[in-house]
Amino acid sequence: MTGMIKHEDVERVRQAADLADVVSRTVQLKRAGTGEYMGLCPFHDEKTPSFAVRPALGVWHCFGCGLGGDVFAFVERRDGVGFADAVEILADQYGITLHYEKGTEGHRRQGSQRSRLLQVNEETQNFFTQHLMSKEGLAARQEIGRRNFTKAQAEYFGVGYAPRGWNNLTNYLASKGFTQKEMIDAGVARQGSRGVYDYFRGRVTWPIRDASGRTLGFGARKLYDDDTIEAKYINTPDTQLYHKEQVLYGLDLARKTIIAKHSIVIVEGYTDVMAMHCAGVTNAVATCGTAFGFEHAKIVRRLISDDNALGALTGGSSVIFTFDGDAAGQKAALHAFRFDSAFLTQTYVAVAHDNLDPCDLRLKEGDAAVQNLIQTARPLFTFVVDTTMSHFDTRFETGRVSAMEAVAPIVARIRDLSMMDAYVRRVAQKLSISPDTVRAEVRRFRRSLRVRDENPYLPDRRERSRQESPIETAADARITAAAQPKTVHDIIDRTYLRRLIELDVNNRSQEWRSPRYRVPDSIFLAEQLVMACVLQLPTAVDETLWTQQLTAQSFSTASFARLFDAINRAATNEDGTWKGLPKPGDSIPQWYHAVHREGGIALSETIDALCVLPLPFNLDERSAADRRAIGVSDQSDHAHPDAQSTHDLRFPTPTDREKTDVGNAMRKMVDVSLGIRVTSLQKMMRQTTDEQQKINLLQEITNLKKQREQLSHEAFDGQETVVG
Ligand code: ZN
Repeated sequence: MTGMIKHEDVERVRQAADLADVVSRTVQLKRAGTGEYMGLCPFHDEKTPSFAVRPALGVWHCFGCGLGGDVFAFVERRDGVGFADAVEILADQYGITLHYEKGTEGHRRQGSQRSRLLQVNEETQNFFTQHLMSKEGLAARQEIGRRNFTKAQAEYFGVGYAPRGWNNLTNYLASKGFTQKEMIDAGVARQGSRGVYDYFRGRVTWPIRDASGRTLGFGARKLYDDDTIEAKYINTPDTQLYHKEQVLYGLDLARKTIIAKHSIVIVEGYTDVMAMHCAGVTNAVATCGTAFGFEHAKIVRRLISDDNALGALTGGSSVIFTFDGDAAGQKAALHAFRFDSAFLTQTYVAVAHDNLDPCDLRLKEGDAAVQNLIQTARPLFTFVVDTTMSHFDTRFETGRVSAMEAVAPIVARIRDLSMMDAYVRRVAQKLSISPDTVRAEVRRFRRSLRVRDENPYLPDRRERSRQESPIETAADARITAAAQPKTVHDIIDRTYLRRLIELDVNNRSQEWRSPRYRVPDSIFLAEQLVMACVLQLPTAVDETLWTQQLTAQSFSTASFARLFDAINRAATNEDGTWKGLPKPGDSIPQWYHAVHREGGIALSETIDALCVLPLPFNLDERSAADRRAIGVSDQSDHAHPDAQSTHDLRFPTPTDREKTDVGNAMRKMVDVSLGIRVTSLQKMMRQTTDEQQKINLLQEITNLKKQREQLSHEAFDGQETVVG
């Protein structure tokens, strides 16, 4: 599902889809400084805005949860789709025709236009809900009523009725101007020998929607014995919009709670989702006609944000599966083997007594019983191991050994060694067998199953959150609460920077540890400003200064040192010659992507944050440059609704003032870094007893001081630079 769309087309979509315009469709944006907009983050729960958008660069970043990226990354996350889908969604919205690389999946996509198929689904949904109230819809209403759902609840979940007969829906859709091909491509009609006919007939229906509420397909339950389709439940077949392994019923309704709680409940049926929500568990969703798989896990992960730094920080994110029936243990075991341990450590299982599904549980015992079911969920591995052991009579030696032999292959599949050992000890204790015996058995299976150990160099999630937890100190919380941050500056200066530094601790190599662990704020800010300048205004950077005065060692902050190298790699040709920083007229996205590519995942949050960081100088003239670049009127408080497509994502010619300001920022940082070296050399000089070395050091110090003086003369306004 990736790539395959022609590169030029992707760039055309990017040009047309103005980031402020796209974002402001779901987020209320307010101007927060020059060329900058802020709003409440749609991806985490917050009361004060920390979601920043910089349309001129086409970059967004949330200072609260750390997510960020370009316009496609925004749509990917908003709609829970992959890159290719995000491009198609925006292409539809901005009327751009896409072309596909030959020999790729493109042929599958050459059906009807995506937007038309969405319309077919919306009309079909209208048709079904209207018919729920018809005379014939009585059977469906009874089916829903029997499960104790009210009319209002049925409406909330979009429950509908597909009437019996072969052409009710197709005739209706034809009257709305849809072609037969569009009906078939949307999966609501089939091609028969005498023309098209309705696929859903005489069934209760549920709309299956994406995270932003667009109907992608339907699920339908059998009502009548003479139904020509045997299956109790049927779904829309896979179409351009609907892929059963990528949809979750109820996601549109559950999305907000899932994000707020970092928690999702996965049930097995449509009425189970309804029962959960009605009982107050509003983060419940269901897979549609398929088992929970990798694609689902990806969507879930994006929503509970366990793939970014803050998700790991907040910890406590959870995925709770409810299983009903005897096969619960087996189903759970299946899940346990499929996913990696990062996902599994936060996976829980809830099984109701007497094989009740959530819908029946609510019917028999009420809302409280449903809530209780979720609250008493057990960790997946514990559940699997315990269920397996429970099949044996462990009062006797032979039973205990058999239980161990049954459990060992399960424990052996845990890739994370530290987690595996915890389970070994648990099993040993439960069965009163020595841990060494259990461990030997597990190792034997591990070898025969060829289980790879999880990368020991990647810090374990739990380990990481423990290390990082001091970041959210009480002092930080007080500052944040007292200051009520409103501008990007407030947020960045008070908490974000510090977090960035601290997060960096995990990434720094040995040489960066200890002595320079605490980077003083003044130095950090100076370095940060230079990095923000070279990312946002590379055309204003004096390349002589950049290449001759700065090295990675000039940066005390490890992230910035690595970013410096990444930027230089991005500014180097494939043959190793220096290409240089971007020039006026060069593509902004190309620069942004080159730096991201060279920086890798470890730097991606830092890069996005620096891209939206407001530069603290020269506001008046910059605003003119911004207007030039993005075509947004300065008077408006909100993002201009039709600010689209007038902008060109190319670097404008920098103003003289910009060049001066960027130059000064760089000189100040060099000065700061020279200052640090002087101080450390002076310290060495005091400590040494070797006279010759003292003289050498003094010489070096004098040279450095001269360099500093020269720098301060070069500065345009000759300002004295700061250093302690
Ligand atoms: Zn956020």
